[in-house]
Amino acid sequence: MRFPSWLLFHALLSQVHSDATDYLDEAKALLEESPLLDTHIDLPQIFRSLHRKPLDAVRLLNATFPGHVDIPRLREGRLGGAFWTVWAPCPDIAGGDPGPDFTAPTHHVRDALEMVDLIQATVAQHPDDLQLARTSDDIWTAFRSGRIASLLGMEGTHMLGNSLSVLRIFAQLGVRYLTLTHTCHSAFASATSWRAGNADVLGEVHAGGGLSDLGVELVRELNRVGIMVDLSHTSDSTMRQAIGVSKAPVVWTHAGARAVRDHPRNVPDDILALIGDGEGQIDGLVQSVFFPDFIGEQPGVNASHVVDHMEHIGNIIGRTRVGIASDFDGMYMTVDGLEDASKYPNLIAELLSRGWTPDEVRGAMGGNLMRIMDKVDEVAIVGDLGETHGSTSTDWGGGGVQVYWPPDVKEKVENMLVKHDEL
Ligand SMILES: [Zn+2]
Repeated sequence: MRFPSWLLFHALLSQVHSDATDYLDEAKALLEESPLLDTHIDLPQIFRSLHRKPLDAVRLLNATFPGHVDIPRLREGRLGGAFWTVWAPCPDIAGGDPGPDFTAPTHHVRDALEMVDLIQATVAQHPDDLQLARTSDDIWTAFRSGRIASLLGMEGTHMLGNSLSVLRIFAQLGVRYLTLTHTCHSAFASATSWRAGNADVLGEVHAGGGLSDLGVELVRELNRVGIMVDLSHTSDSTMRQAIGVSKAPVVWTHAGARAVRDHPRNVPDDILALIGDGEGQIDGLVQSVFFPDFIGEQPGVNASHVVDHMEHIGNIIGRTRVGIASDFDGMYMTVDGLEDASKYPNLIAELLSRGWTPDEVRGAMGGNLMRIMDKVDEVAIVGDLGETHGSTSTDWGGGGVQVYWPPDVKEKVENMLVKHDEL
């Protein structure tokens, strides 16, 4: 006798479901002994969007809060650490477009600083639940004290004011990764052409569609100050060039596998092949995102499909180079089984149900990422100024006119100026 195919399909579905459910207790136990690190949560933009005075919203996080994240749900989901996102919309969306050469001033440095301030305020307001962290040691300290490690991830170089000086200050403030673009090109790097709701809206601005010269300097400076180079959102050429320049491991803080779902926000196999220990490879990892568009055909995308991406990436670069990134509070839809921050155990149970060993699962939860963070810290040369000082700024200085110069300075500056008799 033959079962109708729809019945078989439903039987299979419920089989998958009950299998993962059987592992929920084991998943929760693992989450309690080792931290799950989510490298992309957009909660700060929710504060900013919901309230004219966003700092007032920060207080409300310990009760039911709009969106995917609040403290009760983070606790129920047993999250060990979060990278809260420092982000402001691209200038063409938010106004203040800097133009095709990126030189017109914008307010993005201020906006990014305000987001850092919001995150700091959130941690200060909820000291029993949240604790600032930058290193893997900090994460363990927070986790062992029963608090959620809180790290800063900055999404997009359009917030740097074209200045590596600004980058260095963000490093001091604890920014731990920098995504080389959001959904727009910047003075440093080219973004992928995808943008929610609009395909292929971006033309090419940098030769070859990758990094600019300033972007090459940026990657070196990120290595030097110990900020992880994040290649999510970037063009394939930016990915390849950054991998070629970086002396430290690179990361995708929220992306999937393009071979599983053909989407420009996912990482193609030929770029994954550049990650590893072999000749011509560098270390790195991909944190698998929950954004439904990147995971599979709608509707019906579920936690199991997220694990399909993790397994594909793991098959190519190893299960020691995979991780987890929700994109909570930055999505207009969610995948089934991972609807909010209370649902992380479902994903861990799914990994266990597919035969991932506890060691592999602990790695995917956060161990792999902490190994990468340690390696990035080893490459960093704190205190050494290095050779990069790049900035395209400058309305003043470098030969500009100032009235407060001491006479010897004035003489030197005047000698810097181009004289007609030199032509
Ligand atoms: Zn993003």
